[in-house]
Amino acid sequence: MAEAAIEHRMPRLPDELRPLERCLGQTLRQDVEAERENPPFDRVCMDGIAVCSEPQEVGARDYRVEGTQAAGMPAMALVNPKAAIEVMTGAVLPSGANCVIPLEEYDLVDGIAQVKANVPRETYRNVQRRGSDSRPGAPMLRSGTRLAAPEIAIVASAGLASVRVSRQPKIMVASTGDELVEPGGPIAPHQVRRSNAYAVVAALLGHGFQDAKNDHILDDESMLRERLTAHLAASDVLILSGGVSKGKLDFVPKVLRELGVEEIFHQVAQRPGMPMWFGMTAQGCAVFGLPGNPIATLVCLVRYVVPALMTAMGAERRWPVPVALSSPIKPGRTLATFVPVRARYDAQGRHLAEPRIPNGSGDFLALAGTDGFVELPPRPDAYPEGFIADMYRW
Ligand code: AMP
Ligand code: MG
Repeated sequence: MAEAAIEHRMPRLPDELRPLERCLGQTLRQDVEAERENPPFDRVCMDGIAVCSEPQEVGARDYRVEGTQAAGMPAMALVNPKAAIEVMTGAVLPSGANCVIPLEEYDLVDGIAQVKANVPRETYRNVQRRGSDSRPGAPMLRSGTRLAAPEIAIVASAGLASVRVSRQPKIMVASTGDELVEPGGPIAPHQVRRSNAYAVVAALLGHGFQDAKNDHILDDESMLRERLTAHLAASDVLILSGGVSKGKLDFVPKVLRELGVEEIFHQVAQRPGMPMWFGMTAQGCAVFGLPGNPIATLVCLVRYVVPALMTAMGAERRWPVPVALSSPIKPGRTLATFVPVRARYDAQGRHLAEPRIPNGSGDFLALAGTDGFVELPPRPDAYPEGFIADMYRW
């Protein structure tokens, strides 16, 4: 299986220490443990007054307010059980107090808090007890976690200003083809816009890979040899689009072989994307030769290259989501097939995929508005409505 063959060989990228401000989307490469008990003290969670619950139990409803305990102040002491200390959310519960009565439940008249009738009296009401979320040293994040906003908050709460994350892979995206022309300039009738490299770099950025450069190489063997030599030396991952089929000018597999890249596989039983090529250099550069047709390029990138990059970064595996086809796909297919889909939910909350079948493998306009694609296994019969398939998002 192509995926397993790739996963197997992907080398692990080194890690680096990164300041927290630049960690969004990065892959954690260390465990993060609680620095202290969490909360680190009995924490007031409402603005109000802190009291000792006992006098309430014997019917006392008036308290003299003897001071103010704001967040960030060391604990004050409530000595007189008939008095109260005004407290703010996030403050330490004053010693001697064990209950917080919120603002709405008393009236403050001349320094006396007059508690309303039927105010509940449990001990530690509106107090988050010290250590109730976690103990010191409790594991909070594991190596392999992708850092989104909540995880970044947790790292900060553990007292770390920087954290070990995977180094970003150095990626080179090289498109090949004499027919390809940059957007922005004039184009002749026999030429084609060079759209793949832009789509690939955008997809990589979208998946959190920030160091992707791109190049364009003509269908010229010696130029290909020269440019690939440089790219192989400078990259962790080289992604090629085009030139991997069996045509006379498809030099990519031959040149890679001559440059000493070990071919792991060439061709996968799938459509689109059958001619896909994968190999490794002795120095550990992974090389993906993706077919040039734009749908195949993008599908193969998301299906194979993105998970491989995650593996290289030591990221936890993200599994595809099962979805139900919203309409049948006919007829059955003899190869694994990738079909672009738009995702939606029906009234019962079922996750549906609406097929957007392209008009042939070059019809990448059909991709507009799609969310990803489903992978359909080979099957002699049609895929009925409700058929469950794995969905991958672009
Ligand atoms: P190839 O894999 O080189 O045989 O290319 C297959 C088809 O994809 C041809 O029609 C190419 O013109 C087209 N193609 C190849 N590379 C690109 C690209 N970077 N952008 C858009 N179309 C491409
Ligand atoms: Mg070509």
